[in-house]
Amino acid sequence: MFDLFKSPAFDNAVVYYDRACELLGLEDWLRERLRFPQRTLVVSCPIRMDEGEIRVFTGYRVQHNLTLGPCKGGVRYHPDVDMGEVASLAMGMSWKCGLAELPFGGAKGGVSVDPMELSLGELERLTRRYTAEILPIIGPNKDIPAPDMGTNPQTMAWMMDTYSMTEGYTTPAVVTGKPVIIGGSLGREEATGFGVAYIVEDALRHFKKSLPGAKVAIQGFGNVGTYTAQKLSEMGCSVVAVSDMYGGIYNSSGLPVHELLDLVRQKGRVQEFKQSDKITNDELITLDCDVLIPAAVGRVITKENANKLRCKMVVEGANGPTTADADDILAERGIPVVPDILANAGGVIVSYYEWVQGLQEYYWSKDMVFSELQKRMRGMFNKVSYFELEKAVSLRMAALMFGINQVAQAKKLRGLYP
Ligand code: NAD
Repeated sequence: MFDLFKSPAFDNAVVYYDRACELLGLEDWLRERLRFPQRTLVVSCPIRMDEGEIRVFTGYRVQHNLTLGPCKGGVRYHPDVDMGEVASLAMGMSWKCGLAELPFGGAKGGVSVDPMELSLGELERLTRRYTAEILPIIGPNKDIPAPDMGTNPQTMAWMMDTYSMTEGYTTPAVVTGKPVIIGGSLGREEATGFGVAYIVEDALRHFKKSLPGAKVAIQGFGNVGTYTAQKLSEMGCSVVAVSDMYGGIYNSSGLPVHELLDLVRQKGRVQEFKQSDKITNDELITLDCDVLIPAAVGRVITKENANKLRCKMVVEGANGPTTADADDILAERGIPVVPDILANAGGVIVSYYEWVQGLQEYYWSKDMVFSELQKRMRGMFNKVSYFELEKAVSLRMAALMFGINQVAQAKKLRGLYP
């Protein structure tokens, strides 16, 4: 079984998982069952390209477990997507939903493709074919996809339409993160980034550091990175560096985030902003700052650079940005890491609100969404930091232990089928 998922991303997720299970003293059969996904699907998606030729893309949907409810997890379009990465992300979603006490199991999907190389028409055809291929295992009561790296509300609109046309009626609750006009939730677009910012506020308070003026560096300026930057700058932090896949920018006095957002919307890359110094993504990771927020790809903090980090704290906006050996080095150096399943849970929390709104066809105000989000995230941070002190473990282990235990206890109560 393990060979099917073998990859740096899955191996890393399993190292963390095994450590948390050991601390929990989880029974062997439960450890074995939850180490691997419940169900995986690999699909071939042939697409007619604009020039007339046909290209075949490989897609995946992995459902880690369905114990607590239907599965929930994003869809990623990126050239590095493979079975191991998708399985690791699906597993992380299980622990994240457990930690947030949401009635969902973890899932993830993706297509191995560079979305920047495809036209809008090609992206629509790919999304519709991928949705058609995974149709047997998705649905409002089975598995509810959402956006992740390389996908966005438009992708979700195409997925929702493809599913609804096949069913014969409009089914908004089959995906979350869709545009508001077709049943999306107000605040879903901002949710992950705003949630990261709420957690930065809690973490600074927890470690007795000041929020106003705190210097923040953010890797990735997409959905998560931009809304994290916006909220933190509104809260009074100084965003000193940001980056995207083309490189980064730095200004020790702080970047004007709103101006930068407007410019990036027009020109597509942060280095178009001139009142700053150009830096590489590697340099951003090792900048002298109070909070480092990786909010792009996985495994960017590794044993090669962990000794060079000069931040006071890492808050993981991305999924899986810190390898286990780097995590050990940071712990030795006394640099706390707020783990992904806590820091970026805002997305799945508001996805839950969106799913509930879709099922009830009753829509909430933005104020209600943000106030419920903040309340739930604050509750999660308090619970994890309490567990951290009580069990004398890292924030990562505390969060994982809570999330894994929720799923394991539910499994025990439900018993074995048949
Ligand atoms: P996105 O596609 O909107 O943005 C990704 C950003 O990262 C872009 O600015 C891109 O240029 C940059 N990037 C890509 N490759 C890079 C590289 N090698 N180095 C530096 N920057 C690079 O994606 P997103 O939705 O913001 O997701 C970012 C991360 O957050 C992912 O790890 C994702 O799994 C995680 N996440 C997203 C959500 C969500 O709701 N969107 C929720 C939870 C976690």
